[in-house]
Amino acid sequence: MTDDKHDADGMKKIISLSKRRGFIYQGSEIYGGLAGVYDFGPNGVELLNNIKKSWWQANVYDKENYYGLDSGMFKNPKVWEASGHTAGFSDPLAECRKCNTRIRVDKELEKVGVTADEKMSDEEINDLFEASQDKIKCPSCGKKDFTPARSFNLLVKSNLGDFTAAGDSPVYLPGEACQGIYLNYKNIVDTLGAKIPFGVAQIGKAFRNEISPRNFLFRTREFEQADTQLFVRPNQNKEAFENIKKDRWSWYLSLGLNEKKLRWKQHDNLVFYASDAWDIEYDFPTYGFDEVEGIHDRTDYDLSQHMKFSGVDLHYTDQVTGEKFIPWILETSMGLGRVYLAVLSDAYCEDEIGGETRTLLKLAPQLAPVKVAVFPLLKNKPELVTKAREVYDLVKKSIPQTAWDDGGNIGKRYRKQDEIGTPYCVTVDFDTLEDGMVTLRDRDTAEQEKVAVDDLASALQTKLNQ
Ligand code: ATP
Repeated sequence: MTDDKHDADGMKKIISLSKRRGFIYQGSEIYGGLAGVYDFGPNGVELLNNIKKSWWQANVYDKENYYGLDSGMFKNPKVWEASGHTAGFSDPLAECRKCNTRIRVDKELEKVGVTADEKMSDEEINDLFEASQDKIKCPSCGKKDFTPARSFNLLVKSNLGDFTAAGDSPVYLPGEACQGIYLNYKNIVDTLGAKIPFGVAQIGKAFRNEISPRNFLFRTREFEQADTQLFVRPNQNKEAFENIKKDRWSWYLSLGLNEKKLRWKQHDNLVFYASDAWDIEYDFPTYGFDEVEGIHDRTDYDLSQHMKFSGVDLHYTDQVTGEKFIPWILETSMGLGRVYLAVLSDAYCEDEIGGETRTLLKLAPQLAPVKVAVFPLLKNKPELVTKAREVYDLVKKSIPQTAWDDGGNIGKRYRKQDEIGTPYCVTVDFDTLEDGMVTLRDRDTAEQEKVAVDDLASALQTKLNQ
């Protein structure tokens, strides 16, 4: 595809392929949809699960001192008070006086080169907004006439709270997934004897009342986060933080992403408790560079707050020295939808084969939803179909993500498999019945080679693992 991030069609093509090939559907589509919610289709959920598997492998199995967790989504309402979300988890919102479209003032200011961060009061943001109003246009009607900005809390309420001991306080859906890790830190120390430094990894849903969900999967109201929190001794944060940054960068490269499309961005203005914060950004087609993951040095803020609000002692005791302290936390928080979109954007290609343009997803084999597709050359020749079924069963035994395809002609099947990123296609033809050889076709080069059926499964395994 074109490398020009300003190409307005770049993302449109990815969105269209996502729908056409069963990756992403609009949530509740037959009812007209629900803004900011998407569903992952049959190919989409495979790609998503493959990204999650790779993340879990890197953050739990490849580490000695990281533990996995899956905490409940609903939490005691006090959790969100302690975390500061009920009071401060808000975006500055303004409304166009002409057409009532709502805008996020901080994001609009950012586009015109003005930084407004979460530390600023409403007055400070409004001063910046007023000073820049001649540069900010309503995205719907183009007018430059807005109401003053006011804070809009992003937490989504439920009515589950009616039955809790917390009485009238609403029970919220999680505004971020990581709180469950802080709440279980003591359980993990007490039950598993975890020794500092240790980390906890979790994948969980988050919900935010985003004012203007937009840019496909980039800003949604329901999304998944993959988080790690490393608990370290106070002031033993710097080297560990640098190691985490290196580790996270390598993980993105392990997905096969083009390194030139990734960059670091350090936060200029830190929230009051943080000691350092960096984002990993990806250069999305049409949208340009934007955040996919935040890496934050959060000091002892989270555990201190939960200790204060719960009244439970969350100090860690060093078993050897007897020393007691509140651990500091180094966090990585990645939006799975955003990484998913980066993976699709990076893999999307158009090239020419035999004078025809084709679209393909050059996904790393480990991420491809389907690894191998097996076809009979013709679907109305029983002897071919029987042999192809045998080959399919054989390959599927060792590579479960093998698909059967006999729809349309062979050219159409190749196009379809190319568009979902299937690395290899296997065709059974009349020669196979004579010589026991099948045709193996490579997605990226479209080159074909003959392979004996007896060697096929191991040849495919080798190629997929290269
Ligand atoms: P932004 O500034 O884009 O609103 P954030 O800094 O509030 O993001 P965090 O609270 O640090 O984001 O969340 C961690 C990660 O969760 C982000 O890096 C991003 O990948 C993802 N994320 C946050 N908000 C959304 C959203 N509305 N839709 C999809 N992913 C999101």
